[in-house]
Amino acid sequence: MQLFDLGSRHREIQVTARSVAARVEEFAAEADECTEPHPGVLAALRESGLACLVVPAAYGGESEILDPLAIAVVREALMYSSAHLDSMFGMQGVGSYSLAVGGGDDLRARWLPRVARLEAIAGLALTEPGIGSDLRGVTTTVEAAGEGVRVNGRKSFITNGGAADFYCVLGKEGDGYSMVLVPADAPGLTVAPGSELIAPHILGELEFADVIVPEDHRLGVPGKAFALMLQTLAVFRVTVAGSAVGLAQAALDEAVRHATTREQFGKPLMALGAVSQNLALSWTEVESARAVTYRAAALARTDPLASLDRSSIAKVAATEAAGRVVDRSVQVMGRFGLVRGSKIERLYRNARPLRVYEGATEVLLDSLGRRLSKGAS
Ligand SMILES: Cc1cc2nc3c(=O)[nH]c(=O)nc-3n(C[C@H](O)[C@H](O)[C@H](O)COP(=O)(O)OP(=O)(O)OC[C@H]3O[C@@H](n4cnc5c(N)ncnc54)[C@H](O)[C@@H]3O)c2cc1C
Repeated sequence: MQLFDLGSRHREIQVTARSVAARVEEFAAEADECTEPHPGVLAALRESGLACLVVPAAYGGESEILDPLAIAVVREALMYSSAHLDSMFGMQGVGSYSLAVGGGDDLRARWLPRVARLEAIAGLALTEPGIGSDLRGVTTTVEAAGEGVRVNGRKSFITNGGAADFYCVLGKEGDGYSMVLVPADAPGLTVAPGSELIAPHILGELEFADVIVPEDHRLGVPGKAFALMLQTLAVFRVTVAGSAVGLAQAALDEAVRHATTREQFGKPLMALGAVSQNLALSWTEVESARAVTYRAAALARTDPLASLDRSSIAKVAATEAAGRVVDRSVQVMGRFGLVRGSKIERLYRNARPLRVYEGATEVLLDSLGRRLSKGAS
Protein backbone atom coordinates (compact mmCIF):
# COMPACT_ATOMS: atom_id res chain seq x y z
CA MET A 1 0.00 0.00 0.00
CA GLN A 2 1.43 3.40 -0.90
CA LEU A 3 0.11 6.93 -1.02
CA PHE A 4 1.29 7.96 -4.51
CA ASP A 5 -0.44 6.51 -7.56
CA LEU A 6 1.84 5.52 -10.40
CA GLY A 7 0.48 5.27 -13.93
CA SER A 8 0.08 1.91 -15.64
CA ARG A 9 3.44 1.98 -17.51
CA HIS A 10 5.29 2.83 -14.29
CA ARG A 11 3.43 0.02 -12.53
CA GLU A 12 4.51 -2.45 -15.22
CA ILE A 13 8.11 -1.31 -14.88
CA GLN A 14 7.84 -1.66 -11.10
CA VAL A 15 6.55 -5.24 -11.44
CA THR A 16 9.49 -6.14 -13.71
CA ALA A 17 12.00 -4.52 -11.34
CA ARG A 18 10.49 -6.25 -8.31
CA SER A 19 10.74 -9.62 -10.03
CA VAL A 20 14.45 -9.01 -10.80
CA ALA A 21 14.96 -8.01 -7.16
CA ALA A 22 13.16 -11.13 -5.94
CA ARG A 23 15.34 -13.29 -8.18
CA VAL A 24 18.51 -11.65 -6.84
CA GLU A 25 17.36 -11.75 -3.20
CA GLU A 26 18.65 -15.28 -2.62
CA PHE A 27 22.23 -14.32 -3.47
CA ALA A 28 22.00 -10.61 -2.56
CA ALA A 29 24.29 -10.92 0.46
CA GLU A 30 26.99 -12.43 -1.74
CA ALA A 31 26.43 -9.82 -4.49
CA ASP A 32 26.70 -6.96 -2.00
CA GLU A 33 30.18 -8.14 -1.02
CA CYS A 34 31.36 -7.92 -4.64
CA THR A 35 33.95 -5.49 -5.93
CA GLU A 36 33.43 -6.67 -9.49
CA PRO A 37 30.18 -7.37 -11.37
CA HIS A 38 28.33 -10.35 -9.92
CA PRO A 39 27.48 -12.70 -12.83
CA GLY A 40 24.03 -13.57 -11.42
CA VAL A 41 23.14 -9.90 -11.02
CA LEU A 42 24.32 -9.09 -14.54
CA ALA A 43 22.36 -12.00 -15.99
CA ALA A 44 19.16 -11.06 -14.16
CA LEU A 45 19.43 -7.42 -15.19
CA ARG A 46 20.25 -8.26 -18.81
CA GLU A 47 17.27 -10.59 -19.10
CA SER A 48 14.94 -7.98 -17.61
CA GLY A 49 15.80 -5.43 -20.32
CA LEU A 50 15.51 -2.68 -17.67
CA ALA A 51 18.76 -0.96 -18.65
CA CYS A 52 17.04 0.31 -21.81
CA LEU A 53 15.33 2.85 -19.53
CA VAL A 54 18.60 4.79 -19.15
CA VAL A 55 19.26 5.24 -22.90
CA PRO A 56 17.31 7.39 -25.44
CA ALA A 57 14.95 5.52 -27.80
CA ALA A 58 17.08 6.20 -30.88
CA TYR A 59 19.82 4.02 -29.37
CA GLY A 60 17.82 1.12 -28.03
CA GLY A 61 16.07 2.86 -25.16
CA GLU A 62 12.42 3.13 -24.23
CA SER A 63 11.70 6.87 -24.60
CA GLU A 64 13.36 9.77 -26.41
CA ILE A 65 13.71 11.77 -23.20
CA LEU A 66 14.77 9.72 -20.16
CA ASP A 67 12.07 9.22 -17.56
CA PRO A 68 13.59 9.85 -14.09
CA LEU A 69 10.41 8.59 -12.40
CA ALA A 70 10.70 5.22 -14.17
CA ILE A 71 14.40 5.03 -13.21
CA ALA A 72 13.64 6.00 -9.58
CA VAL A 73 10.89 3.38 -9.35
CA VAL A 74 13.30 0.73 -10.66
CA ARG A 75 16.08 1.77 -8.28
CA GLU A 76 13.66 1.65 -5.36
CA ALA A 77 12.71 -1.92 -6.22
CA LEU A 78 16.29 -3.07 -6.87
CA MET A 79 17.77 -1.45 -3.75
CA TYR A 80 15.15 -3.25 -1.68
CA SER A 81 17.16 -6.42 -2.35
CA SER A 82 20.71 -5.41 -3.20
CA ALA A 83 22.90 -2.31 -3.39
CA HIS A 84 25.07 -4.05 -5.99
CA LEU A 85 22.03 -4.67 -8.17
CA ASP A 86 20.94 -1.04 -7.80
CA SER A 87 24.42 0.22 -8.64
CA MET A 88 24.81 -1.99 -11.73
CA PHE A 89 21.53 -0.58 -13.05
CA GLY A 90 21.89 3.06 -11.96
CA MET A 91 25.47 3.50 -13.14
CA GLN A 92 24.55 2.52 -16.69
CA GLY A 93 22.61 5.78 -16.79
CA VAL A 94 24.93 7.93 -14.67
CA GLY A 95 27.93 6.73 -16.68
CA SER A 96 26.42 7.18 -20.14
CA TYR A 97 24.16 10.23 -19.86
CA SER A 98 26.79 12.78 -20.92
CA LEU A 99 27.39 10.60 -23.99
CA ALA A 100 23.64 10.44 -24.71
CA VAL A 101 23.29 14.21 -24.43
CA GLY A 102 26.67 15.47 -25.64
CA GLY A 103 28.13 12.77 -27.89
CA GLY A 104 28.23 12.73 -31.69
CA ASP A 105 25.95 10.33 -33.59
CA ASP A 106 28.68 7.79 -34.41
CA LEU A 107 29.96 7.62 -30.85
CA ARG A 108 26.45 7.24 -29.48
CA ALA A 109 25.61 4.56 -32.03
CA ARG A 110 28.80 2.69 -31.10
CA TRP A 111 28.18 2.58 -27.35
CA LEU A 112 24.62 3.33 -26.28
CA PRO A 113 22.84 0.26 -27.72
CA ARG A 114 25.40 -1.87 -25.86
CA VAL A 115 24.81 0.11 -22.66
CA ALA A 116 21.06 -0.52 -23.04
CA ARG A 117 21.69 -4.27 -23.36
CA LEU A 118 24.29 -4.22 -20.55
CA GLU A 119 26.91 -5.52 -22.94
CA ALA A 120 29.05 -2.44 -22.25
CA ILE A 121 29.47 -1.11 -18.72
CA ALA A 122 29.63 2.66 -18.20
CA GLY A 123 31.59 4.84 -15.75
CA LEU A 124 31.59 8.54 -14.90
CA ALA A 125 34.93 9.94 -13.74
CA LEU A 126 34.67 13.26 -11.90
CA THR A 127 36.22 12.84 -8.44
CA GLU A 128 40.00 13.10 -7.97
CA PRO A 129 42.27 12.23 -5.07
CA GLY A 130 42.24 15.88 -3.94
CA ILE A 131 38.84 16.98 -5.29
CA GLY A 132 35.41 15.77 -4.19
CA SER A 133 32.45 18.11 -3.74
CA ASP A 134 34.25 21.10 -5.27
CA LEU A 135 34.39 19.79 -8.83
CA ARG A 136 35.41 23.16 -10.28
CA GLY A 137 38.81 22.39 -8.79
CA VAL A 138 39.51 19.33 -10.98
CA THR A 139 43.13 19.11 -12.09
CA THR A 140 42.84 16.48 -14.83
CA THR A 141 43.63 18.20 -18.14
CA VAL A 142 42.04 17.83 -21.55
CA GLU A 143 43.75 19.41 -24.56
CA ALA A 144 43.76 19.25 -28.34
CA ALA A 145 46.58 17.04 -29.63
CA GLY A 146 46.84 17.03 -33.44
CA GLU A 147 43.87 15.03 -34.75
CA GLY A 148 42.84 13.94 -31.25
CA VAL A 149 42.41 14.91 -27.61
CA ARG A 150 44.95 14.29 -24.86
CA VAL A 151 43.93 13.49 -21.25
CA ASN A 152 46.26 13.59 -18.25
CA GLY A 153 45.40 13.20 -14.58
CA ARG A 154 43.97 10.93 -11.92
CA LYS A 155 40.41 10.05 -10.97
CA SER A 156 39.48 8.43 -7.68
CA PHE A 157 36.58 6.45 -6.18
CA ILE A 158 35.13 5.74 -9.62
CA THR A 159 32.22 3.32 -9.59
CA ASN A 160 32.74 0.47 -12.06
CA GLY A 161 36.44 1.39 -12.22
CA GLY A 162 38.16 -1.65 -13.71
CA ALA A 163 34.84 -3.18 -14.84
CA ALA A 164 33.68 -0.40 -17.16
CA ASP A 165 34.15 -0.47 -20.94
CA PHE A 166 34.38 3.33 -21.09
CA TYR A 167 34.56 6.36 -18.82
CA CYS A 168 33.09 9.82 -19.38
CA VAL A 169 35.82 12.02 -17.93
CA LEU A 170 35.64 15.63 -16.73
CA GLY A 171 38.79 17.72 -17.07
CA LYS A 172 40.03 21.28 -17.25
CA GLU A 173 40.69 22.74 -20.71
CA GLY A 174 42.06 26.27 -20.70
CA ASP A 175 39.73 28.35 -18.51
CA GLY A 176 36.82 25.95 -19.00
CA TYR A 177 35.88 22.32 -18.55
CA SER A 178 35.61 19.57 -21.12
CA MET A 179 34.33 16.02 -21.12
CA VAL A 180 35.66 13.16 -23.20
CA LEU A 181 34.80 9.51 -23.56
CA VAL A 182 37.82 7.33 -22.87
CA PRO A 183 37.49 3.63 -23.78
CA ALA A 184 38.82 1.37 -21.02
CA ASP A 185 41.44 -0.07 -23.37
CA ALA A 186 42.88 3.32 -24.40
CA PRO A 187 46.71 3.22 -24.21
CA GLY A 188 47.92 5.21 -21.19
CA LEU A 189 44.84 4.51 -19.03
CA THR A 190 45.57 2.32 -16.02
CA VAL A 191 43.10 1.30 -13.34
CA ALA A 192 43.98 0.17 -9.83
CA PRO A 193 41.48 -1.31 -7.37
CA GLY A 194 39.80 1.31 -5.18
CA SER A 195 39.45 1.48 -1.39
CA GLU A 196 37.50 -1.22 0.39
CA LEU A 197 34.33 0.33 1.79
CA ILE A 198 32.13 -0.63 4.74
CA ALA A 199 29.54 -1.30 2.03
CA PRO A 200 31.60 -3.05 -0.71
CA HIS A 201 31.33 -1.39 -4.11
CA ILE A 202 33.04 -1.72 -7.50
CA LEU A 203 35.55 1.11 -7.22
CA GLY A 204 38.66 1.98 -9.20
CA GLU A 205 41.44 4.55 -9.19
CA LEU A 206 42.10 5.76 -12.73
CA GLU A 207 45.33 7.23 -14.07
CA PHE A 208 45.47 8.93 -17.47
CA ALA A 209 49.05 9.29 -18.72
CA ASP A 210 49.03 11.04 -22.11
CA VAL A 211 45.90 9.17 -23.14
CA ILE A 212 44.91 10.22 -26.67
CA VAL A 213 41.42 9.65 -28.03
CA PRO A 214 39.99 10.76 -31.41
CA GLU A 215 38.42 14.23 -31.61
CA ASP A 216 34.95 12.69 -32.00
CA HIS A 217 35.27 11.33 -28.44
CA ARG A 218 34.57 14.79 -27.07
CA LEU A 219 31.26 15.16 -25.23
CA GLY A 220 29.59 18.57 -25.45
CA VAL A 221 31.26 21.81 -26.41
CA PRO A 222 35.00 22.05 -25.58
CA GLY A 223 35.49 24.27 -22.53
CA LYS A 224 31.76 24.32 -21.76
CA ALA A 225 31.06 20.80 -20.55
CA PHE A 226 30.56 21.60 -16.86
CA ALA A 227 26.88 22.14 -17.67
CA LEU A 228 26.79 18.68 -19.26
CA MET A 229 28.05 17.14 -16.04
CA LEU A 230 25.45 19.12 -14.05
CA GLN A 231 22.75 17.80 -16.38
CA THR A 232 23.75 14.23 -15.49
CA LEU A 233 23.40 15.05 -11.80
CA ALA A 234 20.09 16.82 -12.44
CA VAL A 235 18.59 13.69 -14.00
CA PHE A 236 20.12 11.06 -11.73
CA ARG A 237 20.29 12.71 -8.29
CA VAL A 238 16.57 12.11 -7.77
CA THR A 239 17.01 8.45 -8.69
CA VAL A 240 19.38 8.05 -5.72
CA ALA A 241 16.43 9.20 -3.63
CA GLY A 242 14.53 6.26 -5.17
CA SER A 243 17.29 3.88 -4.01
CA ALA A 244 17.08 5.37 -0.51
CA VAL A 245 13.32 4.80 -0.37
CA GLY A 246 13.81 1.15 -1.36
CA LEU A 247 16.46 0.63 1.30
CA ALA A 248 14.34 2.32 3.98
CA GLN A 249 11.33 0.17 3.06
CA ALA A 250 13.45 -2.98 3.32
CA ALA A 251 14.74 -1.92 6.75
CA LEU A 252 11.23 -1.16 7.96
CA ASP A 253 9.92 -4.51 6.70
CA GLU A 254 12.75 -6.36 8.46
CA ALA A 255 12.00 -4.62 11.75
CA VAL A 256 8.24 -5.16 11.50
CA ARG A 257 8.78 -8.86 10.77
CA HIS A 258 10.98 -9.14 13.84
CA ALA A 259 8.75 -7.06 16.13
CA THR A 260 5.63 -9.02 15.29
CA THR A 261 7.23 -12.44 15.87
CA ARG A 262 9.52 -11.88 18.87
CA GLU A 263 7.97 -11.73 22.32
CA GLN A 264 9.27 -10.00 25.46
CA PHE A 265 7.34 -9.27 28.68
CA GLY A 266 4.73 -11.80 27.51
CA LYS A 267 3.79 -10.05 24.28
CA PRO A 268 5.17 -9.28 20.83
CA LEU A 269 7.66 -6.41 20.76
CA MET A 270 5.17 -4.65 18.50
CA ALA A 271 2.72 -4.42 21.41
CA LEU A 272 5.25 -2.46 23.46
CA GLY A 273 4.39 1.19 22.91
CA ALA A 274 7.83 2.55 22.10
CA VAL A 275 8.49 -0.14 19.50
CA SER A 276 5.30 0.37 17.54
CA GLN A 277 5.71 4.17 17.79
CA ASN A 278 9.22 3.89 16.41
CA LEU A 279 8.08 1.75 13.52
CA ALA A 280 5.07 3.95 12.82
CA LEU A 281 7.43 6.93 12.68
CA SER A 282 9.62 5.03 10.20
CA TRP A 283 6.58 4.21 8.09
CA THR A 284 5.64 7.90 8.06
CA GLU A 285 9.15 8.80 6.95
CA VAL A 286 9.26 6.16 4.21
CA GLU A 287 5.93 7.28 2.76
CA SER A 288 6.91 10.96 2.93
CA ALA A 289 10.25 10.25 1.24
CA ARG A 290 8.53 8.24 -1.47
CA ALA A 291 6.00 10.99 -2.18
CA VAL A 292 8.63 13.74 -2.42
CA THR A 293 10.86 11.51 -4.57
CA TYR A 294 8.16 10.53 -7.05
CA ARG A 295 7.03 14.14 -7.41
CA ALA A 296 10.57 15.45 -7.94
CA ALA A 297 11.30 12.63 -10.40
CA ALA A 298 8.15 13.40 -12.38
CA LEU A 299 9.15 17.11 -12.53
CA ALA A 300 12.69 16.23 -13.61
CA ARG A 301 11.46 14.64 -16.83
CA THR A 302 10.49 17.88 -18.58
CA ASP A 303 13.34 20.12 -17.40
CA PRO A 304 15.88 18.47 -15.08
CA LEU A 305 17.96 21.62 -14.52
CA ALA A 306 14.90 23.75 -13.74
CA SER A 307 13.75 21.21 -11.15
CA LEU A 308 17.18 20.59 -9.63
CA ASP A 309 16.11 22.13 -6.29
CA ARG A 310 13.29 19.59 -6.02
CA SER A 311 15.69 16.74 -6.91
CA SER A 312 18.15 17.92 -4.24
CA ILE A 313 15.34 18.20 -1.68
CA ALA A 314 14.22 14.65 -2.54
CA LYS A 315 17.78 13.32 -2.27
CA VAL A 316 18.34 14.96 1.12
CA ALA A 317 14.91 13.93 2.43
CA ALA A 318 15.09 10.30 1.27
CA THR A 319 18.72 9.53 2.11
CA GLU A 320 18.53 11.16 5.55
CA ALA A 321 15.24 9.33 6.21
CA ALA A 322 16.85 6.04 5.15
CA GLY A 323 19.63 6.64 7.69
CA ARG A 324 17.13 7.24 10.49
CA VAL A 325 14.83 4.38 9.50
CA VAL A 326 17.58 1.78 9.28
CA ASP A 327 19.05 2.94 12.60
CA ARG A 328 15.64 2.65 14.30
CA SER A 329 15.16 -0.80 12.75
CA VAL A 330 18.46 -1.99 14.19
CA GLN A 331 17.37 -0.67 17.60
CA VAL A 332 14.02 -2.47 17.43
CA MET A 333 15.82 -5.71 16.55
CA GLY A 334 18.09 -5.45 19.57
CA ARG A 335 21.10 -7.73 19.48
CA PHE A 336 19.75 -9.47 16.36
CA GLY A 337 20.12 -6.19 14.51
CA LEU A 338 23.85 -6.27 15.14
CA VAL A 339 24.64 -9.68 13.71
CA ARG A 340 27.18 -9.61 10.90
CA GLY A 341 25.77 -11.13 7.72
CA SER A 342 22.13 -10.40 8.60
CA LYS A 343 20.07 -8.40 6.13
CA ILE A 344 19.56 -5.51 8.51
CA GLU A 345 23.30 -5.22 9.12
CA ARG A 346 23.85 -5.08 5.35
CA LEU A 347 21.16 -2.42 4.98
CA TYR A 348 22.73 -0.41 7.80
CA ARG A 349 26.08 -0.37 5.98
CA ASN A 350 24.54 0.22 2.54
CA ALA A 351 22.56 3.23 3.79
CA ARG A 352 25.65 5.21 4.71
CA PRO A 353 27.20 6.08 1.29
CA LEU A 354 23.84 7.39 0.02
CA ARG A 355 24.30 10.57 2.06
CA VAL A 356 27.75 11.20 0.57
CA TYR A 357 27.74 10.49 -3.18
CA GLU A 358 25.98 12.45 -5.94
CA GLY A 359 25.90 15.47 -3.63
CA ALA A 360 26.60 15.13 0.10
CA THR A 361 23.67 16.30 2.25
CA GLU A 362 25.49 19.40 3.52
CA VAL A 363 26.58 20.40 0.02
CA LEU A 364 22.99 20.15 -1.22
CA LEU A 365 21.65 22.05 1.81
CA ASP A 366 24.28 24.71 1.24
CA SER A 367 23.16 25.27 -2.33
CA LEU A 368 19.46 25.04 -1.40
CA GLY A 369 20.09 27.70 1.26
CA ARG A 370 21.65 29.97 -1.35
CA ARG A 371 18.68 29.37 -3.66
CA LEU A 372 16.28 30.26 -0.82
CA SER A 373 18.09 33.52 -0.18
CA LYS A 374 17.61 34.37 -3.87
CA GLY A 375 13.86 33.89 -3.55
CA ALA A 376 13.45 30.26 -4.69
CA SER A 377 10.34 28.53 -3.41
C1 LIG B 1 30.31 4.46 -3.03
C2 LIG B 1 30.84 5.65 -3.76
C3 LIG B 1 30.81 5.69 -5.14
C4 LIG B 1 31.32 6.77 -5.84
N1 LIG B 1 31.31 6.76 -7.21
C5 LIG B 1 31.82 7.82 -7.90
C6 LIG B 1 31.85 7.82 -9.33
O1 LIG B 1 31.39 6.87 -9.98
N2 LIG B 1 32.40 8.87 -9.97
C7 LIG B 1 32.90 9.94 -9.30
O2 LIG B 1 33.38 10.87 -9.95
N3 LIG B 1 32.89 9.99 -7.94
C8 LIG B 1 32.36 8.95 -7.22
N4 LIG B 1 32.34 8.96 -5.84
C9 LIG B 1 32.89 10.10 -5.13
C10 LIG B 1 31.79 11.00 -4.60
O3 LIG B 1 31.20 11.67 -5.65
C11 LIG B 1 32.42 11.93 -3.54
O4 LIG B 1 32.66 11.14 -2.39
C12 LIG B 1 31.52 13.10 -3.19
O5 LIG B 1 31.46 14.00 -4.26
C13 LIG B 1 32.01 13.85 -1.96
O6 LIG B 1 33.35 14.18 -2.10
P1 LIG B 1 34.38 13.80 -0.93
O7 LIG B 1 34.09 12.41 -0.50
O8 LIG B 1 35.73 14.11 -1.43
O9 LIG B 1 34.00 14.73 0.28
P2 LIG B 1 34.45 16.28 0.52
O10 LIG B 1 34.18 17.09 -0.69
O11 LIG B 1 35.83 16.30 1.09
O12 LIG B 1 33.41 16.66 1.64
C14 LIG B 1 33.43 16.03 2.93
C15 LIG B 1 32.25 16.53 3.71
O13 LIG B 1 32.39 17.94 3.95
C16 LIG B 1 31.13 18.57 3.90
N5 LIG B 1 31.12 19.59 2.85
C17 LIG B 1 31.82 19.60 1.69
N6 LIG B 1 31.52 20.69 0.96
C18 LIG B 1 30.61 21.39 1.67
C19 LIG B 1 29.89 22.61 1.44
N7 LIG B 1 30.04 23.33 0.31
N8 LIG B 1 29.03 23.03 2.42
C20 LIG B 1 28.85 22.32 3.54
N9 LIG B 1 29.48 21.14 3.79
C21 LIG B 1 30.35 20.69 2.88
C22 LIG B 1 30.10 17.45 3.65
O14 LIG B 1 29.63 16.97 4.89
C23 LIG B 1 30.92 16.36 3.00
O15 LIG B 1 30.36 15.06 3.21
C24 LIG B 1 31.84 7.87 -5.13
C25 LIG B 1 31.85 7.86 -3.72
C26 LIG B 1 31.35 6.77 -3.04
C27 LIG B 1 31.37 6.77 -1.54
